[in-house]
Amino acid sequence: MSQPPFKRILLKLSGEVLMGEGALSIDPATTARVAQEIADARTAGFELCVVVGGGNIFRGIAGAARGMERATGDYMGMLATVMNALAVQNALEQIGVETRVQSAIPMATVCEPFIRRRAERHIEKGRIVIFAAGVGSPFFTTDTGAALRAAEMKCDALFKGTSVDGVYDADPKKVSTAKRYETVSFSRVLSDDLKVMDASAVALCRDNDIPIVVFNIRERGNLAKVLAGEGVATIVQNEGE
Ligand code: UDP
Repeated sequence: MSQPPFKRILLKLSGEVLMGEGALSIDPATTARVAQEIADARTAGFELCVVVGGGNIFRGIAGAARGMERATGDYMGMLATVMNALAVQNALEQIGVETRVQSAIPMATVCEPFIRRRAERHIEKGRIVIFAAGVGSPFFTTDTGAALRAAEMKCDALFKGTSVDGVYDADPKKVSTAKRYETVSFSRVLSDDLKVMDASAVALCRDNDIPIVVFNIRERGNLAKVLAGEGVATIVQNEGE
């Protein structure tokens, strides 16, 4: 895989990335390993913004399926992302990396509110900014939050760390002949409904020309490899690039 040199990236971590093999929603050892990967990327010279999901704790849609009002469930999901953001912050600071958490839902005694210019200043000072609570509104996901923050923070790419090593033309867990794309266009992802991110997040990246790099973050050392253009990943980008 080869790719243009990115300087500033937005790393989207699904909540489940923080789960280990056991029953814990936030596994300390797994969170520490992910934090080390992020720290290594910063040491390698990248500027990093991080958006964390909350699916390991709560998803509004799951609450709605059990009769809860969807918007209330979504607010609970956003609060879950704040818990995950604090866990990632804690793990990063334990290894000496300066961070700030900014939440789209103001929570003055817990973390900073999202202020774009302030986030910019943190990054200039070498800090890693972790964005929590998605876009701050129900009926959205942290994928869309990640695309929005990537655009606002002028990130060169959105790195989506998941448990698969890229985008396939069929579900690789179900179809043995499924083929992984090296690169695929935004329009194909949308027209073929390929499972990368929500359609709204993909459209936002397409409109702002922000490539999405899908890679497996569960594999140790993989973020560094993918950032160096050496790892296995799929790049979703505009046609003709
Ligand atoms: N959520 C929301 N608005 C947002 C971001 C998240 O309502 O802008 C809620 C929604 O209920 C979602 C939950 O928070 O299911 C957790 O986020 P997400 O599902 O994106 O987490 P991930 O799948 O990345 O772990």
